[in-house]
Amino acid sequence: MPPCHSDQAPDAAPCRVGVVVEAPQHSGLLGPLDYLSPQALPAGTVVRVPLGRRVVTGVVWDQGADDAASQALSDAQLKPVAEVLTGLPPLPASWRQLLLFAANYYQRSLGEMTLMVLPPELRQLDDTQWGRRLKRLDKAVAQGAASGVASGGTDSGAAGPELPELTPQQAQALAALAGPADKPFLLWGSTGSGKTEVYLRQAQRALDAGRQVLMMVPEINLTPQLEARVAERFAGRHIVSLHSGLTPAQRLRNWLMAHTGHADLVLGTRLSVFTPMPRLGLIVVDEEHDPSYKQQDGARYSARDLAVYRARLEGVPVVLGSATPSLESWYNALPTAEGGAGRYLRLAMPSRVGDGIMPTVRVLDLTRAPKPLPGRSPPPLAAELLQAIEQRVERGEQSLVLLNRRGYAPVLHCSDCGWKSGCPHCSAWRVFHKVDRTLRCHHCGFTERVPRACPDCGNQDIAPMGRGTERLEEQLAEILPQARVGRIDADVTKHKGALEAQLASVHAGEVDVLVGTQMVAKGHDFRRITLVAAVNPDAALFASDFRAAERQFALLLQAAGRAGRDAQVAGHSEMWVQTYHPTHPLYAALRRYDYADFAAQQLKEREMAGLPPYASLAMLRAEGKTQEAAQHFLTRAAELTQALAESSGALITLYPPVPTPIQRVANVERAQLMIESASRLALQRFLQAAQAIWLDEAQKNRRSGLIRWAVDVDPLSI
Ligand code: ADP
Ligand code: ZN
Ligand code: ZN
Repeated sequence: MPPCHSDQAPDAAPCRVGVVVEAPQHSGLLGPLDYLSPQALPAGTVVRVPLGRRVVTGVVWDQGADDAASQALSDAQLKPVAEVLTGLPPLPASWRQLLLFAANYYQRSLGEMTLMVLPPELRQLDDTQWGRRLKRLDKAVAQGAASGVASGGTDSGAAGPELPELTPQQAQALAALAGPADKPFLLWGSTGSGKTEVYLRQAQRALDAGRQVLMMVPEINLTPQLEARVAERFAGRHIVSLHSGLTPAQRLRNWLMAHTGHADLVLGTRLSVFTPMPRLGLIVVDEEHDPSYKQQDGARYSARDLAVYRARLEGVPVVLGSATPSLESWYNALPTAEGGAGRYLRLAMPSRVGDGIMPTVRVLDLTRAPKPLPGRSPPPLAAELLQAIEQRVERGEQSLVLLNRRGYAPVLHCSDCGWKSGCPHCSAWRVFHKVDRTLRCHHCGFTERVPRACPDCGNQDIAPMGRGTERLEEQLAEILPQARVGRIDADVTKHKGALEAQLASVHAGEVDVLVGTQMVAKGHDFRRITLVAAVNPDAALFASDFRAAERQFALLLQAAGRAGRDAQVAGHSEMWVQTYHPTHPLYAALRRYDYADFAAQQLKEREMAGLPPYASLAMLRAEGKTQEAAQHFLTRAAELTQALAESSGALITLYPPVPTPIQRVANVERAQLMIESASRLALQRFLQAAQAIWLDEAQKNRRSGLIRWAVDVDPLSI
């Protein structure tokens, strides 16, 4: 049987097609499988094919393998394609190339990657249902009012909303963006410098040129304001969102709108980087430093990095925006003359719009605060900070108190016998939540009612140790009886609509003091907040993860950016940092809002330590029934590929396996092995070759208690 040629007439004899089907990474199946088709099928066609005893969804990838092994399979051994989704336009070549790159780079099977990024509903509909879906979609578009699709009206010729006059820095950035797009742009603008306005103007250009825009945000649920702003600006355009908060049906519809070219603008989280868009003309990655762009399980891809790849692939500009870029992007955008890679073009917008100035940073030295009485914990806020907040309350201004730990207290403790509320399934404490009087493990979810007495000795007097947001809220309400204290964290906002409601009440001025986790530090445009306080920011200074400082700096700067956004009250806005390490260089840089200086400090350290961006990392992770089982696999994996690593010109270093920082979660032991290379390419080649060896070794380790293993390329957490 001949392979199908794309120019084959539809009524020609049956031929072979290569179809990518979902297959777990470790099945060893990496490429497409051959099937028979009665007619030629264009690459990118979505089909259903038999696999074992099931019928699964797949994507036609090529015209059948032409290697000897596949050719040796006689046609009688090949199964025919079961169904063709004729109603769905084939997925374009650039999309397939993106998936192929992602699968190779992140060491996953093509099938897993491909089926992961397609809307799950796609796998459930048959061809007739398809036809109906697409027809309904066409009708909705024709009416100009697809339900659930943000669209400001049908008359795109109407005068748009009044646009603000650009600041000189915005104008300059936009002038550069109008130039050649042979390099990714890094829009490095202070919080409140008007980055969003720049994205919108650039998007307008693309839309005017008849192109589609992909605008990515780290967490769409936290940015309803951006959605509203985009919808308002582009009234009359079809705007769709793609994120995990959608129902499967909504997700499919929005994805189809994009894929068929009906949607002009896609606003989405990391998964949206894979949205097929036939008229793509611009990619924006807002808050590009945000860790949410990296998927933390399964195929551990970085949507930010894939956006850069995709932009080059499709020849469209990509804008990465941040006030505190990731050190990788920063290094890429640093001119070679300044010791950087010079691969990106940096556009700086250091000033806030209008008369907005960044709040004054006050580093509050806790070593000088009066010591608490023996047996008492220190007050949540030092006296000066409390006073500053009281003043805000009196003036009718708002304060934001940041504490990155939810719950009432991180642990309960018996002072008689020393019992602590550990999780029986994890190497972690269970957090005390007072609202429902539970002990909850934040790692495995194990939840129990708080015991009345110490489970070990019967002591009735078990007490919370330390402080989470719930307790801080309670304490502040006590100390500041005149203030209305509110809270925003993952517990408060579990229920749909709760976050929006809570944010609305902050915007409406119904809250004087807002306690929150990092969730409130990002992106929100609070107009009346004039004081932001980080009450316990020191932990990150000494964390084992080399990115902890970078993340903390970004968080504090973002948090500071929530204050003083309204010029009328900006003059006296403040960012407070309560610390036992007031002279730490991180705080010194924060004081001056000197990201460049902070980045220079960090880059120097990274260069000396041989860490990203000066080196590439991969993490081989293993989970086992016992720590020994997990580590045994890693040790063997390293031994078996040591020669391979050395043959790469000693460019690859394999480190000894170690337990992960939280080594047991849900009764599973975890360990990891770091792989480092000065050359990204050498690392890629090594991983590619090592996979097969590890796969083989893993099979042998099944019986000795290895549960799972995976490679994490460019890991974000160490
Ligand atoms: P960023 O994204 O950099 O934090 P935004 O784009 O959200 O900043 O801008 C901050 C505020 O300034 C917003 O309320 C926005 O509407 C306003 N703004 C942006 N650009 C201008 C401008 N050129 N003139 C007046 N106001 C502007
Ligand atoms: Zn006890
Ligand atoms: Zn647990």
